[in-house]
Amino acid sequence: MGSVYLIDVTNRDGVQTARLGLSKLAKTMLNLYLNEMGVYQSEFGFPTTRHESHYLRANLKLQEMGVLKPIRLSGWIRATVEDVEQSFKLVPEIKMLNLSISTSNQMINGKFQGRKGEQDILNMATESIDAAKANGAEIVGINAEDASRTEIEYLLRFAFAAKEHGADRFRYCDTLGYDNPFTIYESCKRLAEEVGMPIELHCHDDLGLAVANSVAGAMGVIDGGQDAYINTTVNGIGERAGNADLVAVILALKKSKGLAKKYKFGQPIHLSKAWKICKYASYAFNVPIPINQPGVGANAFAHASGIHADGVLKDPQNYELYDFKELGRGEPEMVETGREISSGQYSGISGFRHIMGKMEINFENRGDAEDILELVRYANVLAQKPLVTAELRFIAQYPEIARELLTMTPLAKTD
Ligand SMILES: [Zn+2]
Repeated sequence: MGSVYLIDVTNRDGVQTARLGLSKLAKTMLNLYLNEMGVYQSEFGFPTTRHESHYLRANLKLQEMGVLKPIRLSGWIRATVEDVEQSFKLVPEIKMLNLSISTSNQMINGKFQGRKGEQDILNMATESIDAAKANGAEIVGINAEDASRTEIEYLLRFAFAAKEHGADRFRYCDTLGYDNPFTIYESCKRLAEEVGMPIELHCHDDLGLAVANSVAGAMGVIDGGQDAYINTTVNGIGERAGNADLVAVILALKKSKGLAKKYKFGQPIHLSKAWKICKYASYAFNVPIPINQPGVGANAFAHASGIHADGVLKDPQNYELYDFKELGRGEPEMVETGREISSGQYSGISGFRHIMGKMEINFENRGDAEDILELVRYANVLAQKPLVTAELRFIAQYPEIARELLTMTPLAKTD
């Protein structure tokens, strides 16, 4: 019997969203929080993009140091030999890659305009898998972009060919959010049964079905005898209407009628970290959490009507499916209402020592404090807003990693 694993793609799909982005420090914080939560893997960025190189290498270093462990870190690129080679040139330590290529006729014809056909797509996929393995990739996922609008017979051929060339997982991308729970269940069950390889579900929310489709797709994969890997993003942030929301996917699998008995997570998930990661992502992206967001919305445990308030006071289970404490909610939060000293790109030493002192971080001498302050200034330049306590702590604890994260060298030649 297969299990469910979570692959969060906030640091890839989330950050490529129009109008939104994250600093490299914020991406790193998310990786740390995802790791604490028990998420299996983070698709942590783009190894062919030069401004990501330092961030990616610094995070792989954190992994080696045991700080980002056991979470796995995977890069996302196009399924071309060129992209594979560029990835290993810029990020030689990378061990996990997802290679993406469009498989639907709509996209093959619409994007390549007659220059490529179905066989060319198969060749590109298998050649890039071969190249990734030859360069030392340990886990290679092959992504069928627009899988939901692809003829199932071709999708099966594509997945078979990828498996034959050593791909470890097949990503079924419902790129446009076109599937519904019934169609995705059928397609994914058939792929799992016939191809016999683990399948990732990558669902978008254009029809409001991303979470339902992810869960139904995973059910199909497991009923087909394979492990299912659900792609999520924190707060559902992603292109257009977004992706499957991390917390809602966990809640659905743990709390929905009868699901938890049959479809189990392959590793412990710490739902109690939900509140922290969602609040942080909201601050970092500058996107408020909707009031009615499952689990973490302001109204998720709020009751006003007479009948509901009376019922919930007598027994919370009358009107609540799960307890707020399970999501790490309920602790009072400190909000400064008087004088406040915050970090900024023009901060000075005395304000900085005051902030760090409040967090009980003291420095041996002024020189040490100034070194960290300099890193904090640079982090502020990139974040363009005050750093949160956890970010300041991270910089003080891992200054060399922070220095690498904050390093950008535009226009530098890599060869
Ligand atoms: Zn996507």
